[in-house]
Amino acid sequence: MSKKNQSKADTYSFFSCIEKNFDKAARYLSIKKGLLEQIKSCNAVYRMHFPVKIGKKIQVIEAYRVQHSHHKLPCKGGIRYSIKVNQDEVMTLAALMTYKCAIVDVPFGGAKGGIKIDPQIISAENIEKITRRYTSELIKKNFIGPGIDVPAPDYGTGEREMSWIFDTFLSLSPGEVDALACVTGKPVSQGGVRGRKEATGLGVFYGIRELCKMKEEMSSVGLDVGLNGKKVIIQGLGNVGYHAATFFHEAGAIIVALAEMEGAIYNKKGLNVSNVILHLKKTGSILNFPESKNIEDTEKALELECDILIPAALENVIHKHNANRIKAKIIGEAANGPVTPEADDILEKKGVLIVPDIYLNAGGVTVSYFEWLKNLSHVRYGRMEKRFSENMNTELLQVIETSCRKKISIEEKKMILRGPREIDLVRSGLEDTMINGFHKIRDLKKSLKIENLRTAAFVLAINKIIDSYEKLGIFP
Ligand code: GLU
Repeated sequence: MSKKNQSKADTYSFFSCIEKNFDKAARYLSIKKGLLEQIKSCNAVYRMHFPVKIGKKIQVIEAYRVQHSHHKLPCKGGIRYSIKVNQDEVMTLAALMTYKCAIVDVPFGGAKGGIKIDPQIISAENIEKITRRYTSELIKKNFIGPGIDVPAPDYGTGEREMSWIFDTFLSLSPGEVDALACVTGKPVSQGGVRGRKEATGLGVFYGIRELCKMKEEMSSVGLDVGLNGKKVIIQGLGNVGYHAATFFHEAGAIIVALAEMEGAIYNKKGLNVSNVILHLKKTGSILNFPESKNIEDTEKALELECDILIPAALENVIHKHNANRIKAKIIGEAANGPVTPEADDILEKKGVLIVPDIYLNAGGVTVSYFEWLKNLSHVRYGRMEKRFSENMNTELLQVIETSCRKKISIEEKKMILRGPREIDLVRSGLEDTMINGFHKIRDLKKSLKIENLRTAAFVLAINKIIDSYEKLGIFP
């Protein structure tokens, strides 16, 4: 987000935006005010300052871990490294995690962490020092552990940081047999699960693909059913945006624009995402990509002609000042909180379909759940059933060949015989989760005549959380 946009966003609290969305949903439910207040509020906020020696100087680092809800344990959510990290932001992102997990039936309470640093200008060695110190601060206060609170990657962090967190936790928790489950998003070689890296982007793709299959919704925005040929703009080419762009491109959508911090590129015939990435690696910027037009003011890319707009970077990028100029018919919130409540109202009046963050970007935490389960069970997915399935399929094919008196080709056999690998199981679990989540929200929207998918998603989340409180017997 540019400085100009940041100052617009700073005029109100991010947390209050989520409260507004929550309150809209609460109107559809008859739940006691006190209980609603309990769901909305953050259960624990840990704000810390710690010293790290960088070069010859001691630098005091500001960091946070917020546990929004303990209705299910452990708490779960990423850790963000950004110079814009602040308490309000971390609290909001933690709250979004609670609703997100409830919607996709992932049994965690929401949490989020943040360290106020700019990872672009700090050396890897110093990022490691900061990460390890942050982890020991979390351990000191019992804010991390397989059954307590399980961090994951977020904006500015990835596998590398997760493996440092795991290593620090392990060395300070000798004998902890489940230590691997203290953090997710680890490299596969260190207990990670195949398919976690691309999970959020793939989840975004599955969610939008499902919406695009719905005749009713598509005709409401004047589009044909299906993804093929749809014009897509993606803002942010980080882990989420890059993978989402790749999956849309592979499915036949036309990526007309890609936007990054330094500017955007546009080609109405479509951009080849992998070539853009090669160009980015070579030149350090997406700008000047062959056969595309540069757009210097990156925010202007959001306002270009397209069918689907995917903001996949930071919060508050669509606000009351630019909402009226958005031409997309569908907005898929891959980022957390990219549309402010004022913009939401403007876009709704314009008939834009918004697929909300608390559903659409839940693919990451869904696969984190699979990773956590893998770590706790101490066995790789597919290990038990792969060979068994292959043997069963071989026998089945033999029976079919004999009874039909027809030989099946080697290529066909290869495809049918293969038992499930870890990546197959993870992807099918993710696909199923995203499809189910979409239909639960859509059905609720229809049955309660809710104005939009966001409010319906909040209603679904609140209902789920109330259910778990009731099961716990806390609020009879
Ligand atoms: N940071 C991601 C999110 O916002 C993933 C969280 C997780 O996997 O725990 O959903």
